[in-house]
Amino acid sequence: MPNVDPAADPAQNPALDPRTLTPAQWRAILTATEYAILRESATERAGTGRYLDDPGPGAFHCAGCGNRLYGAGHKFHSGCGWPSFFQEVEPGALEVHRDVTFGMVRTEMRCARCGGHLGHIFDDAPQTPTGKRHCVNGYAVVHVPAGEAVGDVFARHRRAG
Ligand SMILES: [Zn+2]
Repeated sequence: MPNVDPAADPAQNPALDPRTLTPAQWRAILTATEYAILRESATERAGTGRYLDDPGPGAFHCAGCGNRLYGAGHKFHSGCGWPSFFQEVEPGALEVHRDVTFGMVRTEMRCARCGGHLGHIFDDAPQTPTGKRHCVNGYAVVHVPAGEAVGDVFARHRRAG
């Protein structure tokens, strides 16, 4: 991954409105996999994404814009092959849409700040406090460990590619 200008990265520059970014600008920030998921609504193959194991205390932020989406305490093991959460970190973190692609009616969730595709919500988790399973692409999020600054974690993440 080439060097990312922090000023051009909405995860490192909270003043930058991610809704103004062009596809070319997103491609300069994201990895090819992150771009395909967040900007083109692709789905990583089951069992291949990030964070199938718990990375520890902290929060999961949108890999596109850095918006905080889930707390580590909202994660549970569903066995479905994608990181699963039973609720977002606070109301308004997500946008939900009806998705009728692939012959199914599903509830899609997107990041409320940048509109990036995250995954789908299913009502098949009776073992959780909400009964919901937010089935999230691991490559759509970045874990920010407790006590670390979001900008620092994203600077590292963008360099690592
Ligand atoms: Zn976002």
